[in-house]
Amino acid sequence: MPENQQDPLKEIMKKAGIKNTKHRNLIFDLLQNAEEPLTAEEIFISLKDKSSSICLSTVYRTLEKLMSGNLLLKTNISDDGKARYELNHDKHKHYLICMKCNKRISIMDCPMKEFEKALKDQANFDVIQHKLEIYGYCQDCKISPQPKR
Ligand SMILES: [Zn+2]
Ligand SMILES: [Zn+2]
Repeated sequence: MPENQQDPLKEIMKKAGIKNTKHRNLIFDLLQNAEEPLTAEEIFISLKDKSSSICLSTVYRTLEKLMSGNLLLKTNISDDGKARYELNHDKHKHYLICMKCNKRISIMDCPMKEFEKALKDQANFDVIQHKLEIYGYCQDCKISPQPKR
């Protein structure tokens, strides 16, 4: 492969100072195609067919490594207490999280942009990143129907 046609993933890892290995590639790839953040267990289950040499502790180690290169974000979701991982995309997402079924619904827009601007003006603070998760009940889990009147 000519120099100028490098795999973008390799480039990203190189920039982050992370050597790319088979497992790192697999996990990165999986997260890249995932619709929503995944737990280490979910990652392990999806990958164990592709790579019989992978084990759960490898997944954890790899996630830690990718985190150290700032390639991943870790999200702690309420009830099950399990950390979920997603790629640290340039375009980020926010989620509505159902407190009953743990479903995560991504919302398209980031409502924080104006607020960040305001913070910069008011507090002279340079915002680099933010996390926002909104908790509640999804359509299927709403506690009780509104009384009809
Ligand atoms: Zn729900
Ligand atoms: Zn945002």
